[in-house]
Amino acid sequence: MEQYDILIIGGGAAGISAAKAAKGAQVLLVDRKNALGGVLLQCTHQGFGKNKSGIEYAADLIKDFPQEVSLTLNTTVLSISKDRTALLSGKEFGLREIRFSQLILATGCREIPMGALPIAGTRPKGVYTAGQMQAMMNLHGHTPEGPVVILGSGDLGLIMAKQLAQAGLAVTLVEKKDHCGGMIKNQRCLKEFPIRLICGDTITEVHGYPQISGCTTAKGITIPCSTLLIAAGLVPERELIFGMEKYDWLHICGNCNTVHPMVEAVINEGKLSGVAACNNLRGSL
Ligand SMILES: Cc1cc2nc3c(=O)[nH]c(=O)nc-3n(C[C@H](O)[C@H](O)[C@H](O)COP(=O)(O)OP(=O)(O)OC[C@H]3O[C@@H](n4cnc5c(N)ncnc54)[C@H](O)[C@@H]3O)c2cc1C
Repeated sequence: MEQYDILIIGGGAAGISAAKAAKGAQVLLVDRKNALGGVLLQCTHQGFGKNKSGIEYAADLIKDFPQEVSLTLNTTVLSISKDRTALLSGKEFGLREIRFSQLILATGCREIPMGALPIAGTRPKGVYTAGQMQAMMNLHGHTPEGPVVILGSGDLGLIMAKQLAQAGLAVTLVEKKDHCGGMIKNQRCLKEFPIRLICGDTITEVHGYPQISGCTTAKGITIPCSTLLIAAGLVPERELIFGMEKYDWLHICGNCNTVHPMVEAVINEGKLSGVAACNNLRGSL
């Protein structure tokens, strides 16, 4: 069986930084996508580092990616075992098992979908998570049908509200808190565009089948729409290491540790994980 000093799962900002910091070790980085960069690759808005887009920021980050790191893209880690083996499934080689000494988990986070929320009604066409729509618009050039309702006014909800309003669509944000969420810089779109914001309310029912035609809130407001985006939160992606959090060979960084609004914090955690994994290796040698 192939053996590596360090296995890094995830090639976003955290995994890339960990790989750069893991100097002198035999490292394998695995990502299920076909390119390094993670969520940065779908962010066309400015605000990363010195006001770069996520795509530009990722390009800079990848420039000096160490050649000695083995990189396996289009490959998903299916499971991790306590005996320090990992089962990989890749386009080119099918199933493959590897051994590792240290594991760096940099798997990012996932969005909460409509199915996980107490929303009545059918499951019609036109309902997406906000991140899915961001990828569809920025990577595949798709523009959804308006009007659009967005559930959740955190950073992702606001970023999508701005982008959709810029595309000329009517947008309504529904926020269960009594005030808008997200960073001040992302809230500016509410002044720049005619985006409707309903606070202290939430969506409890969707209408229409097979295509969504509207939704109703807890306070009884019915909002006609052709698209509903769920921006109701992000959950760290850690199922792979369930029950293993206490092992000293495991290092967790980036959004799978805690959801970070700024990329700099993710990069720092990635670096720390890379260094900690190397220190552990030296200790064990
Ligand atoms: C919509 C949005 C807007 C943002 N805007 C800003 C901003 O303006 N400014 C700023 O500084 N920061 C911003 N951030 C924050 C920052 O960009 C992110 O926190 C950071 O890029 C996350 O990096 P990560 O490596 O932790 O996760 P990700 O980038 O999500 O990387 C995780 C990687 O792991 C891979 N993966 C997961 N599971 C597996 C598996 N089982 N097998 C193989 N591969 C796997 C995924 O394919 C992915 O490539 C934004 C974040 C989001 C989501």
